[in-house]
Amino acid sequence: MSDEQKRPEEPTIRLGVSTCLLGEEVRYDGGHKLDQFLVNTLGRFVEWVPVCPEVEMGLPTPRESMRLVGDAEAPRLIAPKSGQDYTERMQTWARERLEELAAVQLHGFIFKKNSPSSGLFRVRVYDQKGMPRRVGTGIFPREVMDRLPLLPLEEEGRLHDMRLRENFIERIFVYYRWTRLLQEDPTPGGLVRFHTAHKLTLMAHSPSHYQAMGRLVAQAGSLTWEELVETYGRLLMEGLAVLGTPGKHTNVLQHLMGFLKEALSRRTRPSCWA
Ligand code: SF4
Repeated sequence: MSDEQKRPEEPTIRLGVSTCLLGEEVRYDGGHKLDQFLVNTLGRFVEWVPVCPEVEMGLPTPRESMRLVGDAEAPRLIAPKSGQDYTERMQTWARERLEELAAVQLHGFIFKKNSPSSGLFRVRVYDQKGMPRRVGTGIFPREVMDRLPLLPLEEEGRLHDMRLRENFIERIFVYYRWTRLLQEDPTPGGLVRFHTAHKLTLMAHSPSHYQAMGRLVAQAGSLTWEELVETYGRLLMEGLAVLGTPGKHTNVLQHLMGFLKEALSRRTRPSCWA
């Protein structure tokens, strides 16, 4: 095969996923929560790294159910039937497991919604009277956010919303390219090229983040590489998490028209561009 015929190397996007979403029977009741979109559609383009906190910390299947109890910011993981408190056991397991996950270089994580161990958003937290409020985050995702703060995170339920799905997929690809930059070209010049290449993507999400990142790149000489990368990476992932709107996309398309105007001859331009 000639060089021209060779296809560029395809990225390996590696996503952590709650194991039960892949159809594995690891839930407390012995069942699973197979998600067809993840397995049959997204699964064709990514490599899964399945994680089941409850089974991996040594609990059997089936097992007693658990819930979050107490302070929403620091809830306890309790099995109400036996009264057993699993909080420290899961935190200790999670910190060790996250060292392994950091080493395999994930590009995102998809969690099972509503789970006290794995749920990311609006997990029920029970007060002392047994009344639930949907205000919590599961014990494992909380540890993931601490250890890998830039990693794109989502829940399987929210991925059925097309805008959230598109946003998540875009974030995992940009995060993939960000980690490649840090490994392969960790220089101010590499950062400038990355910033230029992602201009329109960022503007479609958050022009204010794009501008703040531009100011940061311009000051590159007065910051250490670590300071630059930490602040730029945080702004990058924060900005991309802002959802695009028709207005922002229109603005980006108008920018693109400016580029095309240069490339098209007068004869082939629409008259409104004259
Ligand atoms: S929600 Fe999490 S802890 Fe529960 S079965 Fe699924 S992967 Fe395991």
